[in-house]
Amino acid sequence: MTTIEANLQQVQERIARSCQLAGRDAKDVTLLAVSKTFDADAVRQAQAAGQRVFGENYVQEGVEKIQLLRLDDPAIPVEWHCIGPLQSNKSRLVAEHFDWVQSVDRLKIAQRLSEQRPDGLPHLQVCIQVNVDGGANKSGVVPGDLLALAQSVSRLPNIRLRGLMSVPEPVAGFEAQRAVFLQVKALFDDLNARGFALDTLSLGMSDDLDAAVAAGSTMVRVGRAIFGSRPARNAGV
Ligand SMILES: *Cc1c(COP(=O)(O)O)cnc(C)c1O
Repeated sequence: MTTIEANLQQVQERIARSCQLAGRDAKDVTLLAVSKTFDADAVRQAQAAGQRVFGENYVQEGVEKIQLLRLDDPAIPVEWHCIGPLQSNKSRLVAEHFDWVQSVDRLKIAQRLSEQRPDGLPHLQVCIQVNVDGGANKSGVVPGDLLALAQSVSRLPNIRLRGLMSVPEPVAGFEAQRAVFLQVKALFDDLNARGFALDTLSLGMSDDLDAAVAAGSTMVRVGRAIFGSRPARNAGV
């Protein structure tokens, strides 16, 4: 068994345990493998172990990997999520190559993604990134602006709003982590109470996925616990 395969199994077990503690079904939590900074071969190993959902932060790097891996076997239904900060000048590449974008935090970028989504591809699946704990410089829409953005995004023709994503500042301790995630869960529940049909709450990474599952996450985004540590210059990015 490769290290990546063993790590994947461990993460799946962690998710299952967290679900059990929370009285949830493990099938309701999707594991997204964050392959940023790792090469196509690492992704191939994860695919060989059955992993089908992958996330990339850097658009150029992600698109190169997507194109390369689709040459392997186009029949394998691999799903690619863009989870990094979005610049307008990269939106076309994202719209053309990714299946999901989790980091939408302003209307302008959502409009571009919708306009640039090629005919013949399924709708681009989108999450709005929310910033519940950071300063003004942090990515993500602030809670007070979320409803208006969600309303505008959900009217765009070629994208489909699926849920919310958040990357809270790292905090120590399960309860403190869970408390921040619960703020995002409350925003998610509020939108659904207003008639949105959101099914994706993307919360939790290698260090805090247990607290995220306890708070109701339906998708954990895990990099280091699957692929190992990243080069220092990318730490925390
Ligand atoms: C890098 C990254 C992850 C994965 O983080 P790990 O700590 O490696 O699990 C998840 N989400 C986003 C947005 C990231 O940038």
